[in-house]
This record gives sequence, structure tokens and C-alpha cells, in this order.
Amino acid sequence: MNHYLSLGKFSFGMGDRFGQQGRAQLRACVLATELGAHFVPVWNKSNREHSFIGTEPSSLRAEADAAVQALGWKSPYHVDADHIRLETVDRFIAPSDFFTIDVADSIGKPAAAADVKAFVDRHPELIGTVSIPHIDQPFAISRAEVERVANKFLLAVQDAGKIYQHIVRAKGAEHFITEVSMDETDSPQTPPELLIILAAIADQKIPLQTIAPKFTGRFNKGVDYVGDVKQFEKEFNEDLAVIAYAIQKYGLPPSLKLSVHSGSDKFSIYEPMRRALKKFDAGVHIKTAGTTWLEEIIGLAEAGGDGLEIAKEIYAYAREHVDEFCAPYASVIDINPAQLPTAAVVNAWSSEQFVSALRHDRKNPGYNPSFRQLLHVSFKVAAKKGDRYLKALKNHEAVVARNVTENLFERHMKPLLLGS
Ligand SMILES: [Zn+2]
Repeated sequence: MNHYLSLGKFSFGMGDRFGQQGRAQLRACVLATELGAHFVPVWNKSNREHSFIGTEPSSLRAEADAAVQALGWKSPYHVDADHIRLETVDRFIAPSDFFTIDVADSIGKPAAAADVKAFVDRHPELIGTVSIPHIDQPFAISRAEVERVANKFLLAVQDAGKIYQHIVRAKGAEHFITEVSMDETDSPQTPPELLIILAAIADQKIPLQTIAPKFTGRFNKGVDYVGDVKQFEKEFNEDLAVIAYAIQKYGLPPSLKLSVHSGSDKFSIYEPMRRALKKFDAGVHIKTAGTTWLEEIIGLAEAGGDGLEIAKEIYAYAREHVDEFCAPYASVIDINPAQLPTAAVVNAWSSEQFVSALRHDRKNPGYNPSFRQLLHVSFKVAAKKGDRYLKALKNHEAVVARNVTENLFERHMKPLLLGS
């Protein structure tokens, strides 16, 4: 295995669409560290986000460095080229030291028959009864099943190997962290599939630090987990067991851990996750993005005056273009159109009414998940407002920053590591 940069045990991915909240985000890590919950901060931004907002990957590096300098942060931090592929990675290489290699598009496309056969021949240990510590029922995997899984995932893993090698050539293996993501696909990967995928990744000699599978249930943008929490907990525990086993069996890096994408706001699974991480003494990477943009809108609305005004304008525009905005996110949002207030209704709202509807406080009777999800996917409206939006953020910086920090620290980092 190549040399590699390793990632700390607990790490927290933070997206910042407009590049203004780096310090407020890092402040959440500072507060968590003071309580003994140390998260390595990782700033992530995907190619898609850069394109929508019109930014370059180097801007994220500049933001991270500036935040670290301003707060005197002395521990590691990273800049994640999120969901990159071979055709998009190049402009990310210099400013990034963390690469999330997205191979979801290749899942389901079969690899060369000879490669599949070679993989199955090389891994007789995957066939038959596979007993894994802390999984009660051993996996019973037939040769045909290993072939099926290889046909579904081997090409994707080979792609990951190609992209990884491309980055190695450009940057040097010891200068970056590698994540492989398979979350943006139709069906979840089962724990036995994860084991087979990890064997294939080890064959590619990728010093994998994090893997983002698709878990069971829905990970909708900016709202709570939707699905069977018990089933999720079982699967999450088994995934941790599989990872611990694969590290030993295939010589993968000891720091390898799960990455949970769309990890923000999944409040009902944080406690089961915390229990499982404790049981396995395992680390985790939580990736969030849009939750911070929503806190910007909450802060502006809370500020009142021109802040509330711009928040209302953004909603009104989004409400008018609801189908257009929601279409690209169909698999990651569940909006009930009947729950979306009209622009006229929202325009008459006070700061408090707007904030109650938007803030993710399940105990607040005014909280409206459909309203929240629509705004989540409507950041392009703010991008269109350009300077006017950025000026509003600057004018109301204190209240916006307070919301950004509090959301990450109180509602995410605390329940994940310290319990609520
Ligand atoms: Zn993802």
C-alpha cells in the first residue's frame, strides 16, 4: 500500500455554499473540543456546488486557511474535493488534500468478465460461511453471489483505482486522504456487499480512509432520517464490524471508517450511531453541506428588516419555481406541496414565524419540513442575488454566525459524541 495521509478518528465535513461561514463553522469544532469531543474539521464542496455558485476550488482552501488562522486552530483540518470524478478532479488537485471519489455512476455496469473471474478466484475466503466478530449470524455467501456483487461493483472500484492513481501522479500519495462514495445510487449496499467491495478496494491498493455507502432509509436534504431506525442501527453496527474485519483481513488502513453523507439533521439516528461507535471504538466522518446555508437564511430572517426581506424574496421565488428546483433532487427530498405556504402568507410573517418554520426544531409546532426542504434546494436564488445577498450576510454577520455555530455544535456534534 502507498503512503497516505490519514484522517483523525472523528471528523466533521462542513459545506459552505457562499464561503462566508468558515469561522462560525470552525467555532463549533472549538466548542466541541472544549467538551472533549474532538472533530477534525473538513471543508467540502462538490463540483456541482462550485458550478452553481460560480466559485473555484481554490476559494475553499483560502476560506479554510483563513478560518484556521483567525481562530488559532492548531490541529489538523482538511479541504475535501467532494464527489469528484476523473473528468472533474483536475482543478481540485492543488487546493485539496481530501478527495471524495464518486463512482456511483459505474455501479451496475459490469467489469470485464476476465476481471470478475480473477477477482472471485483471488478471494475464496469470501465464499461459504463468513464469520465476522460482533455479527451474530455469519454471512452465507455463494460463489454466484460474489460474482453478482463483483459484476455490480467491480467496475466502480476499478474506476476509483484509476482516479486515485491520477491524483497520486499529480500530488503524491502522502499528501491526501481518500474517500470513496457510493451513496448517490438507487439501492443501499448490504454489509456482505460492503465486505466484497472492501476486498476489491484493497486489491486496487487504495489506502482508503473513509467509505460512504448508501444506507437503508431516506437521507433527505436537511431534515431528519426517514426509515426504520432499528434496521438502520443493525446495518450500521454490521458495517462497523465489516470494516474492522476488512482492515485486518485485507491490510486496509487502521484509520478506515464510515462516512455518512447527507449526515446533517439526522437526529433520530445519532443516538444509535453514538452507541455503535462506542461499542466498536470506531470513528466516523459526518458530511454536511446545506444545513449551513439554511442557518444563513434563519439568521437573516431573525435579524429582521432587510434580512427578513431577502429571506422572504428567496422563498417567494422558490415557491414559484418549485417544480424546477425540486426535479434534480427528487431522490433526496420529500416535499408535500400542500404544506408549502403561499408567498403572500409568508410575506406577512414576522421574524419569529419565519424562523419557527425553518429552524430544525422538531418540538416547535411551527416547524415545517416541506418549507425547509424547498429552501434547502433553492440556494441558486441567493446566488443570483449576488452582492446583495453577500452584503446582507455581512450586515447581519453576528446573528448569522451564532445560528451557524449553534446548529453544528448543539444539534450535531453534541448528540453524536456526547449524547443529548
Ligand atoms: Zn454524497
